[in-house]
Amino acid sequence: MTVQLSNETIGRRGLMLVLSSPSGAGKTTLTRLLREQEPSLTLSVSVTTRPRRHSEVEGVHYRFIDVETFTLMRDRGDLLEWAEVHGNFYGSPRREIDKALASGQDILFDIDYQGAQQIRANAASDVVSIFILPPSIPEMRRRLERRAEDPPEMIARRLRTAIGELERWREYDYVLVNDDLERCFERLQAILVAERLRRERQPGLVAFTEGLMDDLRRSTS
Ligand code: ADP
Ligand code: 5GP
Repeated sequence: MTVQLSNETIGRRGLMLVLSSPSGAGKTTLTRLLREQEPSLTLSVSVTTRPRRHSEVEGVHYRFIDVETFTLMRDRGDLLEWAEVHGNFYGSPRREIDKALASGQDILFDIDYQGAQQIRANAASDVVSIFILPPSIPEMRRRLERRAEDPPEMIARRLRTAIGELERWREYDYVLVNDDLERCFERLQAILVAERLRRERQPGLVAFTEGLMDDLRRSTS
């Protein structure tokens, strides 16, 4: 029988796309654009103890929970990773992630460097990590002020924390400077396209190429 190419023939293992950046660099905006362009990409909706912003929707941007519930989830092992950021707790629920990856679904994480470290430590080969840099600090501050979602003391705290976050850029597979949004987004998409094509993410390639070679041997013998 001749080997025929189809998506089922090759199959694909999903990847975990991890985006991190200091606050205000634009990772939420890039995440939103990516999800609009790639509806098959599942966003990991984190739980957080931070108060909801006006523009945020429960269950869409975060699940907003109290510290007691967070502690319970964490201690029960329900979180794939968790961290304290800017004085609040954040975590990625573990449920369904392994199943989603095995069925070829990609999952997008908007998490800080501490969470990225934990996910990498547990599943390095499934992780593609991208660090987003702002074009400058004054521009990052302007973006935080323009977003107008946080009180001034929270903006100041986010800027103070940024140094510890910026220091982590070397831990990531890719680094993008979010100057021009459109160009940065194109690059983000290019990374996703290329990473999906990595040999080890296409488990059916072994059988497919063996089939091609069998066909070739038969047709040339
Ligand atoms: P983060 O999630 O990293 O904290 P956001 O995505 O919320 O950052 O972006 C902060 C603000 O900057 C938002 O108001 C957003 O619209 C704006 N922004 C994002 N990327 C750009 C860009 N390339 N140029 C100008 N403004 C941007
Ligand atoms: P924000 O309060 O601006 O939504 O997020 C603050 C920081 O927490 C961002 O760097 C964001 O990526 C990070 N964050 C959001 N969810 C999670 C999570 O589930 N785990 C970890 N480790 N960080 C998160």
